Amino acid sequence: VRSPVLETIRGQTDVVSLLEASLGHPLHAYLFLGPRGTGREEAAVAFAAALFCPDGGCGECDVCRAVLANRHPDLVLVEREGAAIRVQQAAEVVRLASRTPRLAPYQVLVLVDFDLLGEAGPVLLKTIEEPPDTTIIVVTAESVPADFVTIASRCAEVRFRPLGEAEITAALREEGCDEEFAAVVARTAGGRLDRARLLRDDPGHMARIERWRELPSLIDGTGASAVKLASQLLGAADEPVEVVRRRQADELEMLKESAEAAGERSVRGVAEIEARFRREQRRVRTDELRSGLSALADVYRRRLERSLSSEPADRSSRSAVAAIELIDEAASRLVLNVNESLLLQWLLLRLGDVA
Ligand SMILES: [Zn+2]
Repeated sequence: VRSPVLETIRGQTDVVSLLEASLGHPLHAYLFLGPRGTGREEAAVAFAAALFCPDGGCGECDVCRAVLANRHPDLVLVEREGAAIRVQQAAEVVRLASRTPRLAPYQVLVLVDFDLLGEAGPVLLKTIEEPPDTTIIVVTAESVPADFVTIASRCAEVRFRPLGEAEITAALREEGCDEEFAAVVARTAGGRLDRARLLRDDPGHMARIERWRELPSLIDGTGASAVKLASQLLGAADEPVEVVRRRQADELEMLKESAEAAGERSVRGVAEIEARFRREQRRVRTDELRSGLSALADVYRRRLERSLSSEPADRSSRSAVAAIELIDEAASRLVLNVNESLLLQWLLLRLGDVA
């Protein structure tokens, strides 16, 4: 079965053929596994359109259009409101799952970020294992936490791969970005369209990455320079957070306007929206530091390649290996909520030692 709406899924040919093949006899639960920003949620919506549309997802009829605009009563997207899907939300999912479809032969429940299910896992277990015949559950996740291996094993696994540079470039071009800039952004987006969009909106990113690449020539092994460089890098890591903050302020403004237009006194759930904003800011900051560290490791990796090609391998290859290991260690400690300033100072001092 060819399904035009499924074939709009970008850069995931295996996913498209797998979903097309299952249209005639869909399973009760699917696990869309892969990095964020690779089209998992868009694919879940397209799958619902293909299931509901009388023509298997023409992409043009009223049914398809309603699904794609997320206003079809038989498609329910469940996104976490806090850091994880909450127990209360999970209970709501259980209730929704037992409904009969309103219009379509099935209803599709999409649970976004299943890896961040937290305490809600046990509540959902039975529903995902044995949903009613007319309910199809699609969960999306980056990876499967140990607690949820059982749930995951009840789902048909559909793997999403990082997008290629050409695919990201094409997507940005369609959104009005000029070709050269789109290509530069695509090269550093790590296969994620969401990250590419962030980079596009934050033109300072390339210059900041360049500062990380220059570090090896600035490190002199003294504590004073380690302190100074660390504080510059951390200061620069606030710049993308500022970009996100501006976008969030616009978003809140729009919500306020539509609340007023609807005659409501204030935006509903504003505390939760602001909590979501703060989490996004923290995420952007950590992502920025992580991509800086990976740019720095690249410099040493290139050094290593050069020194390996010159026979015999000399001292410089050993110091490049040591530097790469130190950077990897710093990157893995970053996720442990350590003091970022002390971590960077430690790294810069040690890099001075080994280089
Ligand atoms: Zn259609």
